[in-house]
This record gives sequence, structure tokens and C-alpha cells, in this order.
Amino acid sequence: MKILALESSCDETAAAIVENGRTVLSSVVASQVEEHKLYGGVVPEIASRRHCEAVVPVTKKALADAGLQLSDVDAVAVTYAPGLIGALLVGVNFAKGLAMAADKPLIPVHHLRSHVAANYITSPELKPPFLCLVVSGGHTHIVHVKDYTEIRVLGQTRDDAAGEAFDKAARAMGMPYPGGIELDKTAEGGDEHAFSLPHPRVDGAPYDFSFSGLKTAVINLIHNAEQRGEELPTKDLAASYRCAVVDCLERNFLKAAEATGSTKLVIAGGVSANRLLRRRLEAACAERGWQFFRPALSLCGDNAAMVGAQAYYEFLAGHTAENDLNARPEMPMEAN
Ligand code: ATP
Ligand code: MG
Ligand code: FE
Repeated sequence: MKILALESSCDETAAAIVENGRTVLSSVVASQVEEHKLYGGVVPEIASRRHCEAVVPVTKKALADAGLQLSDVDAVAVTYAPGLIGALLVGVNFAKGLAMAADKPLIPVHHLRSHVAANYITSPELKPPFLCLVVSGGHTHIVHVKDYTEIRVLGQTRDDAAGEAFDKAARAMGMPYPGGIELDKTAEGGDEHAFSLPHPRVDGAPYDFSFSGLKTAVINLIHNAEQRGEELPTKDLAASYRCAVVDCLERNFLKAAEATGSTKLVIAGGVSANRLLRRRLEAACAERGWQFFRPALSLCGDNAAMVGAQAYYEFLAGHTAENDLNARPEMPMEAN
């Protein structure tokens, strides 16, 4: 089954053709990041406009790269939640139009479920059940993926997402948006113990996260040093901060794995590209004899190939939509 998938939840306009949830026939991503960089973050109004401009050429290119016509695909899938409402609406309305015109089923896909599904492309042998740490720009969840479309959230962040915490600290360190990637690069070879930073816990909720105190601690360190006319060693500061964030992620994720008896651990979302997080979890799983899966770097950030992968399983579970499908800015991962 060939699915044409679309993604427009944030600042990437993407289209892809995926066969049977695992084989990517084409994948096109048009990123707006250079434009949003000017403002230090995503400007929703600009994002919607750019999606409107890009959605047709990106979709045409995905079809052309796969050597297919719209009539050759078996269904149209689209990210419909969660995300920026104006951005999501562009993809949803375009997908509805395509599905109606070509008389194909329409498959709505939850953005975070699709981040998880990026792993089905990278690791064709991966099958549920497994435990997944979803770490992205706007979300940080520990989820039990019981089956492809049966998901239980065990814990989540109470404030900032891991990606947001990385981006905001990176900004304070003078790195351009989205700074998470550069902070990660800068941290390589730095001294992780140079600065002592808090490792927040949430009382009574061992799988929940809180990053705002840690983020504020590092921002205060930088501002206080500035006032004294001092410059902190960025490499060591980035290394200490990255280490503290990863310590929290690893601590709760391993605790959840032990409590649920999970021996198959998976990471997903933009922050799953983080070098230290990958190394730490790889080592922790190897030590315990557990399996560890992570997406190819090209599939960690937003793309439509992952939407096409999850859409296949949503279709098999009977999750299709009619032409009254609407976009939703928020939606729990359990619901579909
Ligand atoms: P969401 O998926 O929650 O709706 P989003 O789609 O904007 O949010 P993603 O595209 O999944 O988020 O991920 C982007 C985030 O990943 C950014 O915050 C970015 O800084 C972060 N990120 C990317 N690479 C790395 C890295 N190597 N280390 C840390 N963070 C990273
Ligand atoms: Mg993005
Ligand atoms: Fe995302």
C-alpha cells in the first residue's frame, strides 16, 4: 500500500510516499528555519504563509521523485494534531482536497505518533510493544507503545520540553535558533562537571519531568557573569547543561523501563538526535542486555516519511477520516 503523506505542524513543509509503513519511496522537506532564525523562534503567521507557498511544489516533487501520479497512491495521510493551528490547517485542507479529488481514503496522523514511527523506517525489525522516550521541540513524554496505535503515556514534562530547554539555554549562550543542535556540538569535549546544575524531580511522579528550573539556573549563571563583566567558558557550560538534561531524561526513562519490565527502548523526536542521549542510552541498554532503537538522524526532525509510516498502521486499525476532518493544536497521544 502506497501512502502520500503530508506534514505541516510547525516550520517544515514536507511530503513523502511510503510503502507498507516501512519503505520510503520519496521524501521532501522544505524547511523555513532560516527565516524564523531572524526572530529567534517560529513566527506562526509566517509559518502558515510559507506552508501555503510550499505545499504544492513539495507534494509534486514527492510524487515525481517516486515516479508516481496521484492516481497511483492508495491513500492520503496528514498530520492533524498537535501543532500550530494555522500551520496544521494548510496541510489538513490540502490533504482533504487531494483525497476528495482523487477519491482516496484520508488518514489523520498524530504528530508525536509519527515521530515514534520514524523508527519503523530506520529499523524494519522493530515491532511493538516497547517503551519510547519522545523528546521534541514541544513535547517530552515517556510512552508505552503497546501496539502501533495503542499508546499509554506514563510520564511527561510539567513545564518546558527538552528541545525548548535546549533552545532557550542555547539562545542565552548566544547561539542562533534552534540552538539545540549547536549546543550539542559545542558540548562535545567540554567538561561536564565544570558547573554544578540542578537535576529537578517531580514529587510523587517519577516519570514526569521539569526543565524550567534547570533552564533558569543556567540563564542566571550567564546573566550574573555578564554583570560581573566575566565570560563563562561556553564549551564547559554547554557540556554541563547537556549532561544535566540528559541525566534527567535517562534517569526517568530507565526507571520506567525497570518498573514496566520493558527491555526494548526506543527514542524519537528532534532531541533524539542528541549525541550524548544516544551514547548514554546505547551504553545503558548494552549493559543490561536490552535492545535500543533510535531514528536515523535524517528522520529525527519533522518530515513526512514518518507520517506515512504511522499512517499505514492507523489505516490498518481503521482510523480514517471524512472530509470534515479538522486540525487540533493539542491532542493526547492516546487519542486518535
Ligand atoms: P513537536 O514535535 O513537539 O511538535 P517540533 O516538531 O518543533 O516540536 P522537532 O522537529 O521534533 O520539534 O525537534 C526540534 C527540536 O529538536 C528543537 O528544539 C531542536 O533544538 C532539537 N534538536 C535537534 N537536534 C538536537 C540535538 N542534536 N541536541 C539537542 N536538541 C536537538
Ligand atoms: Mg522544525
Ligand atoms: Fe516534531
